[in-house]
Amino acid sequence: MRTRKLIAGNWKMNGGLIANVALLKAIHAGLHNPSCDIAVCVPSAFLAQCQTLLASSPIELGAQDLSQHEAGAYTGEISAQMLKEFGVRYVIVGHSERRQYHAESDASVASKVQRALANGITPIVCVGESLAERESGQTDEVVKRQLAAVIHLNGHCISEIVLAYEPIWAIGTGKTASPEQAQAVHAVLRGQLKAASDHAERVRILYGGSMNAANAATLLAQPDIDGGLIGGASLKPQDFLAIIDSAA
Ligand code: PEP
Repeated sequence: MRTRKLIAGNWKMNGGLIANVALLKAIHAGLHNPSCDIAVCVPSAFLAQCQTLLASSPIELGAQDLSQHEAGAYTGEISAQMLKEFGVRYVIVGHSERRQYHAESDASVASKVQRALANGITPIVCVGESLAERESGQTDEVVKRQLAAVIHLNGHCISEIVLAYEPIWAIGTGKTASPEQAQAVHAVLRGQLKAASDHAERVRILYGGSMNAANAATLLAQPDIDGGLIGGASLKPQDFLAIIDSAA
């Protein structure tokens, strides 16, 4: 069974050496025995700095992407092994911004998941539909296709992943899926995981898309919403802390 919720911040391409110190200091100052798991997924340039800043912290370190290849002539890429050396516990895989701007396919996302798992890093696998897909009634079909590719390559250890349902129309737009809309998709994903694994109940399915201090509690109260992947609000310490409190 899922024991603790996970609240993971996605800093995207934000931050700086000075700003990161201030942000993490402010979050630490407001953390009192959190009863959920917490992670921040930082730009790779800041992994070394954040590894140091998070030493002996309950906040775990995450990355935002990894290479599907093990090593070699892949200029600009970062391998799972490298992430491991910086103490990375989670890596976001298949975020819609990577699928959209870097042409990541379902197959390459599945390979990245395989690479992360083989190196003991938990992938936070993102799936989600566009507004046009939702409006034409294709939501379930799209997210099931995206998850099916991951299950196809990683079926034997699918219960080791974290899944994130992130409707593209809700990311960074201020439009949030209603708790009922989100729960309905999470239930579909849970059903697909159950068909693939006897241990599907243990997979945490996060919701992401304009989650904030005001809407977190009702979203996190849904039976199949096991945490949040937080973009914009993870850069505002008071908002991030309020979401963490909502997950208690
Ligand atoms: C995200 O980028 O994963 C995300 C959910 O962003 P935001 O919270 O800003 O919508």
